[in-house]
Amino acid sequence: MSDDPLLVPLCDGDRRALARAITLVESTRPEHRDRAAALLDALPTGREALRIGLSGTPGVGKSTFIEAFGTMLTEAGCRVAVLAVDPSSARTGGSILGDKTRMERLSRDPGAFIRPSPAARHLGGVARRTREAVTLCEAAGFDVVLIETVGVGQSETMVAQLADLFVLLLAPAGGDELQGVKRGIMEIADLILVNKADGDLAATATRTVADYAGALRLMRRRPADPEGFPKAMAVSAVTGAGLASAWDEMQALAEWRRREGHWDATRAAQAAHWFDAEVRAALLAQLDAPETRARMAAMARDVAEGRRAARAAAEEMLESLRGA
Ligand code: GDP
Repeated sequence: MSDDPLLVPLCDGDRRALARAITLVESTRPEHRDRAAALLDALPTGREALRIGLSGTPGVGKSTFIEAFGTMLTEAGCRVAVLAVDPSSARTGGSILGDKTRMERLSRDPGAFIRPSPAARHLGGVARRTREAVTLCEAAGFDVVLIETVGVGQSETMVAQLADLFVLLLAPAGGDELQGVKRGIMEIADLILVNKADGDLAATATRTVADYAGALRLMRRRPADPEGFPKAMAVSAVTGAGLASAWDEMQALAEWRRREGHWDATRAAQAAHWFDAEVRAALLAQLDAPETRARMAAMARDVAEGRRAARAAAEEMLESLRGA
């Protein structure tokens, strides 16, 4: 059992302790990494949130949706955490959720917790730290964890590996825009929500839902899907229309997957995936260490100039890494 002072307040649901624990797992300092690993290892098992991945291109209404949807859930007594996987933060160090005014009401809600995307060098690193943040939120007793990402392709696949359900937010659009959604994203979506189904856009939204429902029917149903899923629906984050039905569908799907055994199987496969990713990342980090790079460069010169055979030099290099 870890005697980390953050453990008890974290498990009591203290949001400040949660924020500090997430900062700890995001830290790259060696002493923090050891402490984070011990803390994560000491978390109680058996507390499960519904992890919902949410994606959509900028402007589709993600923050408006999360604000309205999250508030609806906290009003119903759910504790809601919002995390972000932002591929642009990997490049700029900025963050889509850095600006808390995006969800002003939810960020002041005592039943909610909002956390921006960690700044990391690689998207893979951002996703690995976000996964740990998800488990910290679960230990802190959150019922729903929303993991938001911008729709750019690669990040969705990673978020799907973090989530129990994947929701894709789309804007009402003409039929030809349907082709703009990448097949891979359609394939991981459990629920397609056509947002902005209000005012002048209401009729277009209804047509868009029908277009996507048709496209989804053409795709093969996955074993982890009940009849009728994946599903397309219209919502309005501004008026709140359709949000309660969307939540009903998410719960129904989650319930079905639990009952049929898919839930545990998916989480087990995800855990194995992240273990693998963690080991690979650690090995790559070892290769990137300055002393290793210097040694590699020296050996590469020896090989290039014919003093050593590549294979023998590689063996020697690997031997020294094993001993490291
Ligand atoms: P994000 O970039 O995906 O987070 O999108 P935002 O939530 O910032 O929304 C982009 C714009 O769409 C804003 O001007 C919102 O007011 C507007 N918007 C979001 N949801 C709706 C909706 O349900 N209906 C309408 N009419 N506008 C919306």
